[in-house]
Amino acid sequence: MSSNTRKHTIAVIPGDGIGNEVMPEGMRVLEKAASLYGFELKQKWHDFSSCDYYARHGRMMPENWKEQIGRPDAIFFGAVGWPETVPDHISLWGSIIQFRREYDQYINLRPVRLMPGVPCPLAGREPGDIDFWVVRENTEGEYSSVGGIMFPGTERELVIQDTVMTRVGVDRVLRYAFDLAQTRERKHLTSATKSNGIAITMPYWDQRVEAIATEYPDVSHDKYHIDILTAQFVMNPDRFDVVVGSNLFGDILSDLGPACTGTIGVAPSANINPEGKHPSLFEPVHGSAPDIAGQGIANPVGQIWSAAMMLEHLGETDAATAIMRAIEQVLATPAARTRDLKGAAGTEECGKAIAEALQ
Ligand code: ATP
Ligand code: MG
Repeated sequence: MSSNTRKHTIAVIPGDGIGNEVMPEGMRVLEKAASLYGFELKQKWHDFSSCDYYARHGRMMPENWKEQIGRPDAIFFGAVGWPETVPDHISLWGSIIQFRREYDQYINLRPVRLMPGVPCPLAGREPGDIDFWVVRENTEGEYSSVGGIMFPGTERELVIQDTVMTRVGVDRVLRYAFDLAQTRERKHLTSATKSNGIAITMPYWDQRVEAIATEYPDVSHDKYHIDILTAQFVMNPDRFDVVVGSNLFGDILSDLGPACTGTIGVAPSANINPEGKHPSLFEPVHGSAPDIAGQGIANPVGQIWSAAMMLEHLGETDAATAIMRAIEQVLATPAARTRDLKGAAGTEECGKAIAEALQ
């Protein structure tokens, strides 16, 4: 290879359960993409951030996990959690939430796209009808731990939890969403609000949307109250292009969106630090799926689509687009689909088919 070959270093963390089965398929496709598109992929695998690691060490990650990870260009993540042995709040707070916070991954990004071969729970929709992004604020908002309980255990019990919005925190997620909308054909941004009920923080959010919108005269925007917006996701998903929400509203929308377009097995997600000061993390939406783990039947598409998002983030746009084409081609082939899509293929078979379709 010549000395100016593009090089990307990735930390590979398969985690628990089916994470260990879908990760090799994600890597298979990434390696094929690297060889076809002329970049070098340096990978470093880690066994921590898993409940197996917890069983051996009494914690999810080593104390010096940041040192061990080093400075990769991205983190490629499988799934974490094995509630039979480690309660979810321990496994999640001890792993993925550490990454989000330490690496200031303030954007959570999920595509909502109806793919061929994936039965849509909404009647009458065809692939191509639904294609938008959900951008969730990932570091502040409603998920602050500010608050407390007064007079606990008495009749006067009083419980308060505050929402924290900072100008910096709100503006940066809005700018990310407007930037994304600007790259799209329709150039439209929808903001989730609830300013008719939440009378301080949500009007502030709306006001920042209007302020940031002036920087993007070519992007149109509107806003919906979260109650109507969730209904619109189900009734008129074709009207959206980029949807942005606070931590809580974005959380709800980023689960509802992929649910509207079919199985959990195909959906990807990204936790992004857009400035690249810290690594961003790419992972399928699904969890470790203990009920099917170890059987070789998990759908690897969510992991492989996450790989495509990672390559896009790393600037390998052509390779990312090629992976998406390969995924669509394989999903359109009944024999190559996994059981959750009424096919008979195993995890490896489906992953190999996507790698082969890649060109
Ligand atoms: P989380 O760990 O994110 O809280 P969860 O534990 O609630 O998620 P999952 O682990 O995603 O849920 O599993 C939910 C259901 O979806 C299970 O029945 C699981 O078998 C199924 N499932 C999840 N991922 C896949 C996949 N890749 N292929 C097929 N089925 C899947
Ligand atoms: Mg789980």
